[in-house]
Amino acid sequence: MKNYLLLFVWLLSGFTAFSQIGEICKWDDDKSAAVVLTFDDWSPGQQPIVPNELKNRGITATFFITTNLVASWNHDWPTVVSTQAKGNEIGNHTYSHPHLLTLSTLQLDTQITQVKAAIETHVPLQKVVSFAYPFGEGVGSTSKDLEIRALLKATGHIGARSVSASNYTYNFATTDDDYYKIMTYTMSGSVSISTFENQLTQIISGGGLLTILYHSIDDANNSHGDTWFNQVKQTALQQQLDTLVSYKDKVWITTFGQAVKYHKERNCATLNLLGTTSTTMTFSLSDTLSNNTVYNQPLSLKIFRNGINYSTVTQNGISVAVDTVLNDSIMFHAVPDAGDIVLTVGDLGINAALFSSENIRINKDNSVINIQLSTSMKNANVSVLDLSGKEIYKKSSVGLLDHLQIDLSGVSSGIYLLRIKSDEKTYTKKFSY
Ligand SMILES: [Zn+2]
Repeated sequence: MKNYLLLFVWLLSGFTAFSQIGEICKWDDDKSAAVVLTFDDWSPGQQPIVPNELKNRGITATFFITTNLVASWNHDWPTVVSTQAKGNEIGNHTYSHPHLLTLSTLQLDTQITQVKAAIETHVPLQKVVSFAYPFGEGVGSTSKDLEIRALLKATGHIGARSVSASNYTYNFATTDDDYYKIMTYTMSGSVSISTFENQLTQIISGGGLLTILYHSIDDANNSHGDTWFNQVKQTALQQQLDTLVSYKDKVWITTFGQAVKYHKERNCATLNLLGTTSTTMTFSLSDTLSNNTVYNQPLSLKIFRNGINYSTVTQNGISVAVDTVLNDSIMFHAVPDAGDIVLTVGDLGINAALFSSENIRINKDNSVINIQLSTSMKNANVSVLDLSGKEIYKKSSVGLLDHLQIDLSGVSSGIYLLRIKSDEKTYTKKFSY
């Protein structure tokens, strides 16, 4: 009897944890954890090496720049701008890398407030919302620590990175102040690839936000003279980035600002059903953060389908891409406080993000369709259905699926559904043949 009662209580708590409409994913695309690569100081090997290594792998990072080093390292503002233009974030790491705890109020203004303004002048396409403490000073509880964090908050920084590890859990920030003490893992030339990988598996199991802190980066010959602190060689960086990317299904690799925005918004956001008709479901997504021009990070929503197929999603009347269709739900992004979200009932003709544009190529002459996936899937089952749901092609347990050719000779022209199922997800896309 006692067990039944416990089960009943557990079910109740389970139901109250989610609204009936669906849930707001803990991280973007329902990933298990977030990882942010951070590069500090704008040391001389970073700009010539890192942005291209990131771009080659389709990922982005945060560069915490010390602004008096920008010109002196001879990688001047145009290279900061071009780094940002690749999707990377430029964060504030002060003007001259001082010990913040020793500074006067006026000096703090020079090192924090004026640097944010200077970066925004030189890099006009982004606001500076992220800060990294030189030497990690500012995360303590003395009156100077409190003054530093109060200044960061007052000047529009939404979070700050420390230089020490704390915890790997999703609830790493239970107060706003906690966002100004975000943990990190410090890299150096002596960190092995297995130690690096262990950080990734820890953050995946904990579900939190891991920032990884890099300093000097250079090639085998130290061509850029970047030997001053905790140097990581380019070949080691490449191996680390490749390892990180191999976990892309589980970790959201993003910038510091985006990760903090997502986590803050998600922790105070609610979904509310506004109404349903025979063809639509309308709901709102709102959060309690007052500054909507800063907190505009799209959140991944998983809306329960209840057996209904939805063909389109809009927010504030603007079409929203559907990311995935699962057996029980439909996933897409929406911005809190940015207008009503409307799902329209329809067939499964959905442009899942898994299939990036033009990645189902059909060559009717030899009856072959070529499928290219934007993210590879393990042990996928692939099938083609006609619109009545009849399976006309099936291939089971494709080891590692990133592209596939399906021979449909003998199949007549028409509209078909391509379905790819992994253990936890089902993706469907309509195509004509
Ligand atoms: Zn530094």
